[in-house]
Amino acid sequence: MTSGGENRVVVAIDGPAGAGKSTIARKLADTLGYVLLDTGAIYRSVALAAERAGVSWDDEARVTEVAADLARRGGLALQPVPRGTGDEASERGLRVVLEGEDVSAAIRTPSISLGASRISSIPAVRSALLELQRAIGANGGVVAEGRDIGTVVFPQAAVKVYLTASVAIRAERRHEELRRAGQEIDIEKVREEVELRDHRDTERAVAPLRQARDAVLVDSSGREIDELVEELAALVRRAAS
Ligand code: C5P
Repeated sequence: MTSGGENRVVVAIDGPAGAGKSTIARKLADTLGYVLLDTGAIYRSVALAAERAGVSWDDEARVTEVAADLARRGGLALQPVPRGTGDEASERGLRVVLEGEDVSAAIRTPSISLGASRISSIPAVRSALLELQRAIGANGGVVAEGRDIGTVVFPQAAVKVYLTASVAIRAERRHEELRRAGQEIDIEKVREEVELRDHRDTERAVAPLRQARDAVLVDSSGREIDELVEELAALVRRAAS
């Protein structure tokens, strides 16, 4: 709930895979009555759309066409959904619809995680998706999470958070998340996937994952999520008053 006279600002949450971004961003958006913008879901959807079109994730020109075409036609929608029904979309409070089809679960496989990480290193893909993300945050009242939100997408965001956690904890969280989604994968494999993505996300030439100079650093290792969300909500309320 927002109180009268408060501005509805943009909150940028960046950080590596498994830091707790999606859970924290969702709960924070709920607490504030803000819209949740999961930018990873956008990159994942492009990876899936490319795969379905028979386009290799390494084919920069054709993947860019897929991304630009989706953005132009509005072929991708992120819809808020009520929670509690138990499926992937309701767990996340967000339904991802690609060309009219609910792909909320299909974009969460380890293969699509790597595909998203591959296609997101293509500069033209990133710029094709930039306006789409900015349009969603144009009127404020948004919690946006990703890798380059505070540095590139919303450099003027009123609140910026860089959320991290130890690799062991991040791998554990990813493992549990995949298990819940019915995918039994060896924890060592999950850890490798997390490390590979970290490496690719931080080393890429365009919009690499890094902490914005004016971002608050938060380590979620061993922290109670709800308590963290309360802290961040207080930060946002102060910035918005
Ligand atoms: O956050 P999530 O794990 O869903 O993101 C999937 C991949 O999409 C990341 O590993 C990253 O490569 C890419 N991504 C990005 N920029 C963002 C959000 C996600 O490059 N703002």
